[in-house]
Amino acid sequence: MSHRNVHRFALARSPRGLARHRRRVLAQHNKRHVKRETFRDCGRRCVYCGTSLGLDNATLDHVLPLSRGGDHAPGNLVSACMACNQLKGSLLPIEFFVRHPWAGANFMRYARAVHRNFKRGARRAVSLACAQSAQAAQAA
Ligand SMILES: [Zn+2]
Repeated sequence: MSHRNVHRFALARSPRGLARHRRRVLAQHNKRHVKRETFRDCGRRCVYCGTSLGLDNATLDHVLPLSRGGDHAPGNLVSACMACNQLKGSLLPIEFFVRHPWAGANFMRYARAVHRNFKRGARRAVSLACAQSAQAAQAA
């Protein structure tokens, strides 16, 4: 009786420990995997300036920043160079693209696997920025 209890106790504990370990290993594996996939989907470039990148100098950028409610879903991830990643900071994609229409244009070209709402937003932001600069040119 007591032997069976010990046995059951041991069985109950070990899978839980294993699961925790496996989760951690999976998380690490997943992160590397996600980066490689994202990098490949983005044509091994920075999606904002279009510069070719290596896996070492590529950074993962959250299109909708984590601080603004974004998540780690593949549709929210792109590869970017350090400079663009810092330039974008915690701006919403729309805010970033209105300020830097070139980034929006490259984003539409290179961020193929990103959620289509972001691409739609980029198109809107770029045309908004173009309209604004056309107005400014007319006013001048
Ligand atoms: Zn860049």
